[in-house]
Amino acid sequence: MKRSGTIALFPGTFDPFTNGHLDVIHRGRTLFDRLIVAIGQNPTKRPLFPVKERLEMIRQLVAESCENVEVQSYKGLTVDFARKVGATVILRGLRNGTDLNFEFQLALTNRAVADIETVFIMAGETYAFTSSSLIRQIAAEGDVGRLHRFVPPLVLERLKEKKRQLGARLLNDYPDGFKE
Ligand code: ADP
Repeated sequence: MKRSGTIALFPGTFDPFTNGHLDVIHRGRTLFDRLIVAIGQNPTKRPLFPVKERLEMIRQLVAESCENVEVQSYKGLTVDFARKVGATVILRGLRNGTDLNFEFQLALTNRAVADIETVFIMAGETYAFTSSSLIRQIAAEGDVGRLHRFVPPLVLERLKEKKRQLGARLLNDYPDGFKE
């Protein structure tokens, strides 16, 4: 049931943003009054797309259809950012048992330290195998064009651009296929 004034935070790395993420946003946004997509910045990880570019891409993608969705970036703990923006719920997507094990621990910790609940959305059947890290790997070692089923057209274009820019260096710079 939708509660009035409920703000949810959908935190993630979104590097790159996929159709699976978009699916979680489309279905999750109907459950809350406001949904804030929050791009976490991890200083120990080298991202494929800088946070500024991720912000700009995701804003463009959600602006097309989601009037109660906004996109922000943050540093530090997700629960601190949630408190800052007034979010009382964290939204996360689940694809499989591995996600569940990890997310379960995270959700319990967030509830224990910050009294914040986590709501899970099951991945759409079509997206259950879509992951940013696999996309980075395929982009690095394979044909970017084949990723059109997994990422929005805008992201596909940026991945192609990235590959053109980095060319042969791409595999040297990201020997594990962009894995952080
Ligand atoms: P993080 O580094 O926080 O896991 P990701 O960008 O990989 O960031 O994922 C953000 C959220 O989106 C996580 O809850 C993840 O489980 C979920 N997610 C990622 N891919 C999918 C997908 N294909 N379907 C549903 N949820 C997904």
